[in-house]
Amino acid sequence: MSQVYLAYDVGGTRIKSGLVSADGRVLRRLVVPTEGHLGVRHVLGKLVELGRQLAGGQDLGGIGVGFTGVIDPSTGTVLQLNGKIPDVEGVSVGGYLQEAFGVPTKVDNDARVYALGEWVYGAGRGYSDVVCVTIGTGVGTGVIAGGRLLRSSGLLAGILGGHFTVDVNGSLCSCGNIGCWEVYASATALVNAMADHLGRGCGSELVGGELSVERVLGAVERGDGLACWVFERWLRYLASGVVTLIHAYDPQVVVIGGGVMARGELVLPRVREHVRAHAWTYPKGRVEVRGAELGDDAALLGAAALVMGGYDG
Ligand SMILES: [Zn+2]
Repeated sequence: MSQVYLAYDVGGTRIKSGLVSADGRVLRRLVVPTEGHLGVRHVLGKLVELGRQLAGGQDLGGIGVGFTGVIDPSTGTVLQLNGKIPDVEGVSVGGYLQEAFGVPTKVDNDARVYALGEWVYGAGRGYSDVVCVTIGTGVGTGVIAGGRLLRSSGLLAGILGGHFTVDVNGSLCSCGNIGCWEVYASATALVNAMADHLGRGCGSELVGGELSVERVLGAVERGDGLACWVFERWLRYLASGVVTLIHAYDPQVVVIGGGVMARGELVLPRVREHVRAHAWTYPKGRVEVRGAELGDDAALLGAAALVMGGYDG
C-alpha cells in the first residue's frame, strides 16, 4: 500500500482536512466548524477525530498543518492567534498530533502553506520566485524566494503583505498598524465599501437585501453604476498592493486566490494592466499575474508538501 499524508487547514471559522496521496492528489476531504471559543482541547480533539476518519487503516507517512496565526514551525507551536482560540497560544499542535498518530508532523502559518501548495502543485509550478496572495476576510500572503519557502528567525517573513501600510491617514487595523492593505483590498473591504455608500443613500440595484461579495460582483458584471465605481476603487487598492509585493519580493509570478477569484475575469485583467504600467521590474512587464488554480485544496496540498519535505531548506 502506498503512503498517504494527513493535511489540515485550520482557520478561525473552519477546519478543512484531507487525505493526500504521495503524488499530490487530495483523495478525501472533511470540513467542520472550528468552534475555537470552546478552547484548544476541543479543537485538538476534532483534529484527531478527523484524522482517524480520514486515515484509518492507511499507511500514514506524515501530517502537515496550516494554522492561522503566528506559528513556530520548528516546534509546531501556535505563538499568537488574537483570541480566535483563547487558550491555544503556547500549545504545540504539531507535538500533539505527532504523539496521537506516531508520524512526523509539520505545522506552519496557513497563508504560507497555501503559497507552498500553489507553488508545488498549482499556478506557481515551475517558478523559483512566487508571491501568493489570498483575498478573503483579510489578505494573506506567502512567498517563495530562490526556490525556498521564505521564512525568518522572527517567523513573519512573507506573511504580513496584508499589513503593508497603504494609507498613512487610514483606519486602525486589527493588527495595531494604521492603514493596512487588507483594510482596503480584502473581500470584506469591498462589501463594506458598498454597504457604506448604500447607507449614504446612493442608488444601486443592491439597495435592500444582504450584501455579499458575489452580489457586489454580480452587480458589477451587469454594469450597476455604484457597484462599478466601488469596485474600481477597490481594484486600485488591490493592484497597488500587488505592485508593492513585487517591489518587496521581486517574484517571477504573483498568484492571486480567494473567493473573489471565482470572478477572476473581472479582477485579473485590471490588476495585470496596473502592474504592467506601474511595477518596477527589469525588464519592464516581466512579472506575470495569475489566478490560483487549486481553490481550497491549495492549503491542504501545501500542508502535505510541508511534511513530504524538500521545500523549506
Ligand atoms: Zn494590519
